[in-house]
Amino acid sequence: MTGIDDLIARQQAISAERAREQATEAMIACDRLVRIYSVAGVETQALQGLDLLVQPGELTALVGASGSGKSTLLNILAGLDLPTGGKAIVAGHDLLTMKGKERLSYRRSTVGFLWQQTGRNLLGQLTAAENVMLPMELARLGRGQRAARARSLLRLLGLEQPADRLVSALSGGQQQRVAIGVALANSPSVVLADEPTGELDTQSADEVFAALRLANAETGVTMLVVTHDASVSEQVNRTIAIRDGRISTEVLRTTATNADGEAERQSQEYSVLDRAGRLQLPVDFIAALDLKSRVRLALEPDHVGVWPDRQAASTREAR
Ligand code: ADP
Ligand code: MG
Repeated sequence: MTGIDDLIARQQAISAERAREQATEAMIACDRLVRIYSVAGVETQALQGLDLLVQPGELTALVGASGSGKSTLLNILAGLDLPTGGKAIVAGHDLLTMKGKERLSYRRSTVGFLWQQTGRNLLGQLTAAENVMLPMELARLGRGQRAARARSLLRLLGLEQPADRLVSALSGGQQQRVAIGVALANSPSVVLADEPTGELDTQSADEVFAALRLANAETGVTMLVVTHDASVSEQVNRTIAIRDGRISTEVLRTTATNADGEAERQSQEYSVLDRAGRLQLPVDFIAALDLKSRVRLALEPDHVGVWPDRQAASTREAR
């Protein structure tokens, strides 16, 4: 082996090792996840090799156009659907190989879900407290413990007052907050929420989102929340955007202190580089420079330049 080959091999081994380390620490790790739906001979690639790492305790917003694969991803992470290929590991459970008993306990205790339709989250003819106790009953927690835990969860969610009212008599915002209690009932490692504020007015949506943030801060549960609401995604530290079944960009927000000593929110948008070095350029960049199937790249000391294929452009003009 030449010196260069040796160096490259060593570099690759180091980055593979680092990727493995990051994935082991992660609460959610998806590696080249693929989901193909086949309906009447027509195939839809809902997930096209999606890579994602979410660290324990993170509250992440997931945004993307309708049909981009958000619900498909959440259903897989919830253990309700199986991917066609790739890898998905959540809280140490391998979602592709997990079988019967493990899958059942995974759905019951490792993950909690929150759906857009309150009807899918709750039983209307039970009280708020009874709804929150239900998952604990399935997990065989004692009666006294169930009642005490339901009270403390409802108190955390600002629902001490209506705890004993039928959920069908509560407002939509209150119902979704009860549903957060149901999702948290068995102390899951991860809460997955698919457009939980989609059917609510702005004020109720704000209250539900505030409750999610509080639950994340108080319990340290990892949360992945699909949302259409830009104001919601601005309140979290990390927003990932999904496009055509892959994560395309990621916005990270931090709070820094400015020169006047005031706290200031700063945000930075990143494009996501996959393990093979592939990158999705933003649609507006592609349009602005009329980038086509080939681009020229140049390595500069601290950045990479991307140029349109001038040769192709001039051939097109000459024609
Ligand atoms: P999103 O939640 O981002 O709107 P989905 O994950 O629901 O997107 O859908 C992604 C793609 O997969 C869409 O093209 C959708 O039509 C297709 N799809 C979703 N569920 C099914 C299904 N059960 N059968 C066939 N195609 C589906
Ligand atoms: Mg959806």
